[in-house]
Amino acid sequence: MAKLYKLDSGEIIESITKIAKKERIKAASILGIGGLRDVTIAYYNHSQRKYEENKLEEFMELTSLSGNISIKDREPFVHVHVNLAKKDNTVVGGHLIRAEIFPFVELVIEKTTNKAERFFDENLGLNVLKA
Ligand code: ZN
Repeated sequence: MAKLYKLDSGEIIESITKIAKKERIKAASILGIGGLRDVTIAYYNHSQRKYEENKLEEFMELTSLSGNISIKDREPFVHVHVNLAKKDNTVVGGHLIRAEIFPFVELVIEKTTNKAERFFDENLGLNVLKA
């Protein structure tokens, strides 16, 4: 069953993790819209096996947030990608490292029925989903 949330402040990954712990979510799909600032997004460079981070301080419209919640090391693990619109309506996007909610984010979390766990994959250098 899906639930709609309005998040008013704080760091977004931490806020989603708190909801996952409180609601005992083990696997879910996440969708969101709203606004963010002080954002760090990343692009995974496969040849170097590491994320290249990009910091954006300005306020941007969160035109699309999508991701999931799984379990890693017995704790909720939030994996989220975002598309963000700047003042001139150009859009940037990527793997979300961190962001401050401003002024709010509207989020839908829909629990899934299967068990989904993440494990670190040495070959890829990433936390990979096993669902
Ligand atoms: Zn990602």
